Amino acid sequence: MAKSTIKAADLEHRRKVHFNISRYNATVPLGKAQFSDVHLAREKAKNLKWRAIERLDERLEEFEAHLTKRGGKVIWAEDAQQALDEVMAICKAKNCKTIVKSKSMVTEEIHLNHFLEKHGIESVETDLGEYIQQLDEEPPYHIVTPAMHKSKEDIARLFVEKLNTAPNLTPEQLTLVAREKLREKYVKAEIGITGANFILADIGGIAVSENEGNARLSTAFPKTHIVIVGIEKVIPSVNDLALFWPLLATYGTGQWITSYNTIISGPRQPGEPDGPDEMYVILLDNGRTNILENEKNRESLYCIRCGACLNACPVYKNIGGHAYEATYSGPIGSVITPHLKDMKEWKHLSYASSLCGNCTEVCAVKINLHELLLENRYEAVESGAAPWAEKIAWKVWKQASLHRSMMNMGNDKLKNWMINKVFKGWTHSRADLNFTPKTFNEMWREKHKKK
Ligand code: SF4
Repeated sequence: MAKSTIKAADLEHRRKVHFNISRYNATVPLGKAQFSDVHLAREKAKNLKWRAIERLDERLEEFEAHLTKRGGKVIWAEDAQQALDEVMAICKAKNCKTIVKSKSMVTEEIHLNHFLEKHGIESVETDLGEYIQQLDEEPPYHIVTPAMHKSKEDIARLFVEKLNTAPNLTPEQLTLVAREKLREKYVKAEIGITGANFILADIGGIAVSENEGNARLSTAFPKTHIVIVGIEKVIPSVNDLALFWPLLATYGTGQWITSYNTIISGPRQPGEPDGPDEMYVILLDNGRTNILENEKNRESLYCIRCGACLNACPVYKNIGGHAYEATYSGPIGSVITPHLKDMKEWKHLSYASSLCGNCTEVCAVKINLHELLLENRYEAVESGAAPWAEKIAWKVWKQASLHRSMMNMGNDKLKNWMINKVFKGWTHSRADLNFTPKTFNEMWREKHKKK
């Protein structure tokens, strides 16, 4: 709340975010042009995710059986700690000192870098945006563009401070500096860690989309590859990528297709020239099965993390990604975080919405986001997570709305005082209310008397 109030008044922050989102808005229509019927494509994608999520257990076991046949190892982690313990066990077995990591929101969710650092293991982010955020010791600001809130001048200053570069380098020169630093790490690292955009049930593979080639390097150089992925990322078949890849690219960045799309279905096979000797896939639950058992909210598991709903949200555009203080920000973050974590503690996110419906309008897989935000509010009240004062306030409001006589009680001065001075929450960020001297009933009677 405090952070969002500060950010909402920070005009420079708003300028940078609006500038980056305007560039996104300009490219998305170009991406959409590749579909003969983009609404149908989104509908089809939603149906495919529905099929996968309704049979999630079977699809995941199918994935495991296929991957295992090709020498991959699947690990099931119920929560963040289990996933971290498994990563640590592998690191110990490999005597690992350095890890190269490609961008993955799931690793943010389990605070992997912090954990590895505590255990003396260097974990280097290799996606440029994530690398910038890591240098600045900040979490990602956006699920697709982690450093969206930084201008090129901010990044140049950061590189001067942290990497001792010359001042005023161009974006191209800054990229080359990062490239040079990162190349050393790929060669040195014993383990590469990636997330996955999709789990491919029918072939036992994972699909990774990226624009920099860093995920490929993270999986090609180190001898061990660990994938950490949320269980909801499953799709029925490798063939479905023909739809999901262009859809993710269009709604994520406005591209027709992301620059590098890789399918990995096991460690290096006999006769293959490159790839890791070992591949582990950690399938993470961490609260996702809570969402699965909730019939209404289940469709939030269809999310392909394109970030379109963040870019469309008037709240996100003003308060930015960090004010949510959650791994997943924006509308989708507000929908899933109370279920992934704790409804009582995180229910306030469901109120961080004007319910304008723009998020639902732009969602790549047509998730009814604004309705799910309402559903969360309902569930918060039903589960008793709403505070006592809020419950009383709604009861009074309901009674007054149902009984005209209650609304007519008191004069305008008393009502103004009650709302503007006693219930100050209403006027905290709004102008004072000014009730009319006459009630609606009085005005109505007068009007009809005249006739
Ligand atoms: S909820 Fe929809 S729009 Fe938002 S990130 Fe997920 S797929 Fe994209």
